[in-house]
Amino acid sequence: MSLHADPTTTVGAPENGGVTVYVRELARALAAEGWPVDLVTRRHDPERPEREERDGVNVIRIDAGPPKALSNDEIAKYLPQAYDAVRALAAARTYRFISSHYWLSGAVGDRIAREFDIPHVHTLHSHGVERKKRDDVTLTRIEAERGLLQRAKIVTLSKTHVNVFRQKYGIDAPVNVVPAGVDTARFKPGDRGAALLELGLPAQGPWFGYVGRLAKEKGIDDLLHAFALLHVRRPDAGLFVVGGARARSRVPELNDLASRLHIGDAVRFLGPIPNDKVARAFQAADVLLVPSHYEAFGLVALEARAAGVPVIASDVGGLRELVTPENGGARVAPGDYIAWAQEMERVLQPHVLQQRRTLALREMRGDVYSWRTVANTIASIALQGAHV
Ligand code: UDP
Repeated sequence: MSLHADPTTTVGAPENGGVTVYVRELARALAAEGWPVDLVTRRHDPERPEREERDGVNVIRIDAGPPKALSNDEIAKYLPQAYDAVRALAAARTYRFISSHYWLSGAVGDRIAREFDIPHVHTLHSHGVERKKRDDVTLTRIEAERGLLQRAKIVTLSKTHVNVFRQKYGIDAPVNVVPAGVDTARFKPGDRGAALLELGLPAQGPWFGYVGRLAKEKGIDDLLHAFALLHVRRPDAGLFVVGGARARSRVPELNDLASRLHIGDAVRFLGPIPNDKVARAFQAADVLLVPSHYEAFGLVALEARAAGVPVIASDVGGLRELVTPENGGARVAPGDYIAWAQEMERVLQPHVLQQRRTLALREMRGDVYSWRTVANTIASIALQGAHV
């Protein structure tokens, strides 16, 4: 269940980030393992059918509020309607378990699970306690998350989050840490020259890449400042930026910032790339940069590694587990422009880059980070209550 965003839509809507990719890949992988899967989402667009089959998954779009894009906070108002719709589905089917994502689905899943006595696994991708706004929605969310921690089987994507529950919710519930997966059939080393050409970028010069939403908390503004410092010493290096919403795009504002920092010519904003084609962006980069202030997991770091691209990331959240010197990575305090620029300069030394590119691929083969593993682990947590 993913009520806040339709996992079948491509990137480009502000709410569509890693969670969308996660839910779609999980549903697909469960179906590939032989589970009949209903992927229940909210109807965000009247043009999309109420039901359709995709990759072996039954996509069901329920009505909860007007069929248009709404913010997560707005969707919260329509939870009773969402509950009625999901209740009707649960009454008509025999669900073996519910896997819910983000608190809106968690809250509905919690009620349904209790009413129909269905195991409920809730994947906590982020936490209400970390929101700065302390409005009614935040309080409702924190209360819902507290209930989920007490009643649902909880999955988080990184160990760092376990401490958040213990400290900030004061709940010592068992938590299963299940890292997300990466599709290594798509995210794999490729021809860098061809990838640059496809993105319309010149082949010369080392390229840093950024792939992700352009929200402030992703640290993209900081990255431009750090890149401006690097640019003084390495004017040959470029930075391409992939991602951002089609509506309410921040690109004009970020372009302005790049011009004011005198890096307008070295930075290319490429806009969002559909997820099934985004692997090209990783193949084009010499190094991927993930400057987030906060990151529950950081799928892009894993996708880069699978493409043999070393990562420089902020020293926060799940990135602490995904980006290490052993896999060619480096972590820097978020917002420390000087340290970022120094680390970017260091990685451009040919011997360092070569070595880190080889290390990036460590652990990326086999089933360590496969969606199949994620799907099987979630199903077994649901059915056997396996707790870490
Ligand atoms: N992504 C994409 N196209 C884009 C930008 C991002 O397909 O133009 C994908 C990216 O490959 C990754 C996800 O969106 O799978 C972003 O997930 P991540 O966990 O890095 O960040 P979040 O959005 O959850 O903060």
